Amino acid sequence: MDLMEYQAKQLFAKHGVAGSAGIVATTAEQARAGAEELGGKVVVKAQVTAGGRGKAGGVKLADGPDEAAARAEEILGMQIKGLTVHRVLIAPTADIAEEYYFSFLVDRANRNYLCIASVEGGVEIEEVARTNSDALAQVSIDPGVGVDEAMAREIVTEARFPAEVAEAAVTMVQQLWRVFIDEDANLVEVNPLARLADDSLEALDGKVTLDANADFRHPEHAEFDDQATADPLEAKARAKGLNYVKLDGSVGIIGNGAGLVMSTLDVVSYAGQEFGGQEPANFLDIGGGASAQVMADGLDIILGDEQVRSVFVNVFGGITACDAVADGIVSALGILGDAATKPLVVRLDGNNVDEGRHILAEAAHPLVTMVDTMDGAARRAAELAAQEPSPAPPPR
Ligand code: GDP
Ligand code: MN
Repeated sequence: MDLMEYQAKQLFAKHGVAGSAGIVATTAEQARAGAEELGGKVVVKAQVTAGGRGKAGGVKLADGPDEAAARAEEILGMQIKGLTVHRVLIAPTADIAEEYYFSFLVDRANRNYLCIASVEGGVEIEEVARTNSDALAQVSIDPGVGVDEAMAREIVTEARFPAEVAEAAVTMVQQLWRVFIDEDANLVEVNPLARLADDSLEALDGKVTLDANADFRHPEHAEFDDQATADPLEAKARAKGLNYVKLDGSVGIIGNGAGLVMSTLDVVSYAGQEFGGQEPANFLDIGGGASAQVMADGLDIILGDEQVRSVFVNVFGGITACDAVADGIVSALGILGDAATKPLVVRLDGNNVDEGRHILAEAAHPLVTMVDTMDGAARRAAELAAQEPSPAPPPR
């Protein structure tokens, strides 16, 4: 799970890393209140899980509360690399003398941990790697030993951090290592790690990716998960325990099993080329037990997406046989009633396929078309999506 800056900074604060955690605001008024609380000049920063916010205009300075509110007004609702900004972080401005780069990450190729550090920070590190790779220190870390004071000192020397900040850097490197290890992260990145006018160091930005395999050790990380979900449909799906990812197209997809759903995305995308480039609207895996309630939950989420113009239900009956799935679809449509408005193309195959098809044929629901093959069903779903009237463009 990729954390937003304000979440990363909460973890930094927990481990004593210098730098302000700041105040989160979701409205201009909250931004004003936050700036009042901090006093003085502040920086207003878009909270999205993408880098390059500064370049995109998502990081702005403000002289005081009024200006903070005005800047927040501009930044909230902005799109940065396809992500909508729902929150800003208000932080005190720092008097920056220099900007460094620092990170710990998992080095899979070498089966250990890697530290990357540079006195050329602030800019994207890929840029430094390309144009000035000498300025980039890469230090492998023995996982059995970790980063003790001696190792931290070695890193600081390799990175050529100036003598004036060396002691502060040795401390911060060890604290960031605690974040990396104690929080079970795959990545901890600070860019910029700022040298201030008084030679102290502060983490002005933070990027942390948590290892989901270690979630069981961190019930306290669950709150990050809720808040990281910007898309309301994804949040709703998560609450229902469904594996849903919103995509940009017009054909809603429901399938059982991640592999089947992924190949369904491919065939729909391929078939859609014939119909003006119709594309899948989402990934939704309802898993093994395609009960009526799960089917209804899945359909409800997909039909809630304004971009969806047709839905392709692609189920291969296994342990949950096709007749149970067909019953599920029929009852789901009953549960949804008038909320079901878009054409459904259903392809059933596998265990008890004949009974399943029979149930759907008997029900003869006006929105449902059955097609026996996956390719044929994908084609029909794309065709229906192209025929349906275009919805109003989604609000930006
Ligand atoms: P990113 O562009 O998404 O990586 O966002 P950052 O948090 O790194 O901010 C981008 C740039 O804004 C930094 O490199 C700094 O130059 C500047 N910046 C961020 N925070 C502050 C701050 O508190 N004070 C000042 N003066 N500049 C800041
Ligand atoms: Mn940054």
